[in-house]
Amino acid sequence: MLKNTVQEYAWGSYTAIAELLGNPYPSVNPQAELWMGAHPKAPSLIEYEGKRLSLAEVIENNPEEILGKAAARKFDNRLPYLFKVLAAAKPLSIQAHPNQEQAEEGFERENRLGIPMVASNRNYKDDSHKPECLCALTQFWGLRGFRSISEILSLTEKICPVELEPELRDLRKHPDSSGLKSFFHALMTMTPERKRNTITQAVCTAQKENDPIFKWILRLYDDYPQDIGVLSPIFLNLICLEPGQAMFLPAGELHAYLDGVGIELMANSDNVLRGGLTPKHIDVPELLRVLDFTAGKPTVILPIKISEYESIYDSSAEEFVLSVISLRPGMSDAQFFPQSAEILLCTQGEAILTAGEQSLSLAKGMSVMVPCAAETYHLKGNATFYKAAVPVL
Ligand SMILES: [Zn+2]
Repeated sequence: MLKNTVQEYAWGSYTAIAELLGNPYPSVNPQAELWMGAHPKAPSLIEYEGKRLSLAEVIENNPEEILGKAAARKFDNRLPYLFKVLAAAKPLSIQAHPNQEQAEEGFERENRLGIPMVASNRNYKDDSHKPECLCALTQFWGLRGFRSISEILSLTEKICPVELEPELRDLRKHPDSSGLKSFFHALMTMTPERKRNTITQAVCTAQKENDPIFKWILRLYDDYPQDIGVLSPIFLNLICLEPGQAMFLPAGELHAYLDGVGIELMANSDNVLRGGLTPKHIDVPELLRVLDFTAGKPTVILPIKISEYESIYDSSAEEFVLSVISLRPGMSDAQFFPQSAEILLCTQGEAILTAGEQSLSLAKGMSVMVPCAAETYHLKGNATFYKAAVPVL
């Protein structure tokens, strides 16, 4: 059984995580994320041989037993993923994550410059990339990936025809990824006065429109009236996931989660480069270095049934695979064969987990890690679980 850290960031929800965990709500502070895993910033605690230990420590001392031989070798004796519940009541920052090479280089560079790990201007908290998969538990709004150039042009012409005329002219002349990069760079580095005028013009136009794109511009403006990120719905794809739908974010893809509760599974990293919509550290030059300026429509991932009780969300990540397990009364015994450490989070109902001689009662909000050495385990009950696992090695 795991005991996990709740991260209290300002954009979090006062109800969603507390309700899931069976705690009183509204909570005192906004609760943004529940972290399940072994990230050094907040490793889960685990009952092990009668003691309460950090999961990171348990894995360090027994890497092959917990992770399995193949995963221990491949991922340098570390749990390769971080599993979260994310509850956004307010928009999160516009951000992107580095690829593996950029993360190693950035982490080494900031270490060399002597930037303390807790410093507000520290970008790279570790040396890992952070591809991530988000699965909606409620309707979930987000922005991700650049829109097609023609969409960006027509939306910008509609909302900021005068203020952004020079940028529009350049983008019309170079309707490709390098033109898009210049457009984005120009937007992010405008003088405070131009920024103010552009936002004012955009908000005036948005008030007369009905499309959700313009509603989101107004909502972002309410929270960040001086931030050019308010305009992001005109250059990023606006996406609304229904419960059960998921999206995968590869390295370098610009995104912002806006509203909703979801399950998030990612490589074990906390490397975030922010471009706006946040009181936290913003580093536009570093963000521009890692961004992918490919434009186009994002894909939605739907669960694929692999057994009577389990469906997986297929992503290309090497470190993790997310699946959902639905147990109903009368269903035959659900049996699993972990290839590495698996973390299960119960989001609804009750079930019994059996592994060898041991059995555990699990209910909504509880999470458990099954080590590779268990070889097999069973679930029985009336419940829904989300499962983090390592893809078959
Ligand atoms: Zn992200």
